[in-house]
Amino acid sequence: MVDPTLQSLFDEVVARNPGEDEFHQAVREVLDSLTPVAGKHPEYASVIQRLCEPERQIIFRVPWVDDSNTVRINRGFRVEFNSALGPYKGGLRFHPSVYLGIVKFLGFEQIFKNALTGLPIGGGKGGSDFDPKGCSEGEVMRFCQSYMTELYRHIGEYTDVPAGDIGVGGREVGYLFGQYKRITNRYESGVFTGKGMAWGGSQVRTEATGFGTVFFVEEMLKASGQSFDGRRVVVSGAGNVAVHAIEKVHQLGGTVVACSDSSGYVVDEEGIDLGLLRQVKEVERGRMADYVERRGQGAHLVSDGSIWDVPCDVALPCATQNELDERAASALVHNGCLVVAEGANMPTTPAALAVLREAGVRFGPGKAANAGGVATSALEMQQNASRDSWSFEYTENRLGEIMRGIHDRCLETADEYGMPDDYVAGANIAGFTHVADAMLAFGVI
Ligand code: GLU
Repeated sequence: MVDPTLQSLFDEVVARNPGEDEFHQAVREVLDSLTPVAGKHPEYASVIQRLCEPERQIIFRVPWVDDSNTVRINRGFRVEFNSALGPYKGGLRFHPSVYLGIVKFLGFEQIFKNALTGLPIGGGKGGSDFDPKGCSEGEVMRFCQSYMTELYRHIGEYTDVPAGDIGVGGREVGYLFGQYKRITNRYESGVFTGKGMAWGGSQVRTEATGFGTVFFVEEMLKASGQSFDGRRVVVSGAGNVAVHAIEKVHQLGGTVVACSDSSGYVVDEEGIDLGLLRQVKEVERGRMADYVERRGQGAHLVSDGSIWDVPCDVALPCATQNELDERAASALVHNGCLVVAEGANMPTTPAALAVLREAGVRFGPGKAANAGGVATSALEMQQNASRDSWSFEYTENRLGEIMRGIHDRCLETADEYGMPDDYVAGANIAGFTHVADAMLAFGVI
């Protein structure tokens, strides 16, 4: 890090949070971007230090009974990171890799992402090391109920508003919200987002992260005089974000030629058949091999390779953190990739980012490119607060406007600080200054 004050702040974060590699990585990227800000505004130094320390970290036991009557114990987390701009807002992740360092990295990213949307939401994140994969419906329900039996006392429409993330979709949100409603005896719709349409959900929330990422890329392409028309696109993942990114790319005239899950990646030169993909992944909860088998000629599965070796113009990592490494970035550059944008949170390693930057590939960081999900969550909160329900078209238009706004804010801020076209710097600085100004106004709290 160039700035000695920022370097010592970073060293302090590492010393105070030992072993939390992903959290260190997320903090480092933001502090790296803040060098020009720290030079211009020394008054921000104490704010940066406070921002790196969560306001509150909750860790709790989640006991539940599985189908064979065995008592199981998981660990639950909620990190309420920053509430300068609004109630803590961010999803819950249920995945065996979840530990405090992952929740803190996600919560930290969420602060700046949420600030960038321009909507009144603070940053938080939670989850558990529970693995819903392979669990029965009953087991998932009992786990969610036990998780909420502790979490309910910490959340509220003006306090902390969770949503989904990896491993937490509509089914889990239903069980979690249902248990909250039962324990509190309050129909407090605004306490959770990502709800079903029949019980206070918003149109477009399911699609929003994937759609938003593609709207963002559309702006990135436009900014360099291009469009999606006729472009080859590779999307990693096959979950909620990936599926809706694929849908929107196809609507805008691009062709998604590859996507993946933990069993491998599929190449389908004709373009991924979205109906079949959704049937296999969402309805049957199956694997990519099932897609290839049913799709027949033209599609093939690669079970031990990197999806980033598939030549493309646009690459959208939509699976998970650190999935696109230095070697993958070199392959993308070698194959002439023009744009990389993160549908997932922090999928690109720092070394990969350096390779892409060096080669002049336009890069959309997750806290800007995937902010459409949480932005639409804030729209869901607006609808709940006014006891209203908007149409799909209206909500999608709002999402489009928000993504264009984030895109322009990133570019304008990058320009202002002398780093044209650097979306990483633009996103980090614009997000940071928004939160920092509120924190300065509040005094030392
Ligand atoms: N988990 C999503 C994210 O990473 C959405 C969070 C939300 O809607 O609160 O931004």
